[in-house]
This record gives sequence, structure tokens and C-alpha cells, in this order.
Amino acid sequence: MSLMINEECIACDACREECPNDAIEEGDPYYMIDPECCTECYGYYDEPACLSVCPVDSIVPDPDNVETLEELKFKHSQLNKDN
Ligand code: SF4
Ligand code: SF4
Repeated sequence: MSLMINEECIACDACREECPNDAIEEGDPYYMIDPECCTECYGYYDEPACLSVCPVDSIVPDPDNVETLEELKFKHSQLNKDN
């Protein structure tokens, strides 16, 4: 499942550098996660890296982008197929 950023975001920028998939972008009025790039950190970390740095807990599961572990593995492989 991709994560998403809700309206509690204070645009502190702490999460963007933490993402191994460059899935987080500055948005207006709050930051955004590209569901095509978020793997819940599968392939890099045991837990989503962005969650641990957000000071206002504004990063939550995205109910519109629910994925199984197999789907996250496939997305990870697709994102890294040129590496
Ligand atoms: Fe990036 Fe991981 Fe957060 Fe997804 S869960 S946006 S891959 S840091
Ligand atoms: Fe917004 Fe949280 Fe990311 Fe800061 S860490 S930009 S508050 S989502």
C-alpha cells in the first residue's frame, strides 16, 4: 500500500530526503507521495522511513492504493530494473 500525506502536513521537508524512492514531492499546500513510486520502503527498510521523521503524524496509509506484499515487490523491481 502506498502511503499518503494528509492536510496535517506543515511542509517541514523532513520526509523528502528520507525516501529511498524519491516518491515525496513538495506540494501546495502540503507535500505529496507519488503512489507509483512508494513501496512502503520495501527493499530498503523494515518500516516506512518517512513515518518516523514526520513531526505531526501526517503520513498515513492510502486507501485508494492498497497493495499486497507481492505487488510492492514487483513495484520495487520495476523501479530498479535499470540499476
Ligand atoms: Fe518513500 Fe518509504 Fe515513505 Fe513510501 S514509505 S514515501 S517509499 S519513505
Ligand atoms: Fe509534511 Fe510530515 Fe513530510 Fe514534514 S515530515 S513535510 S509535516 S509529511
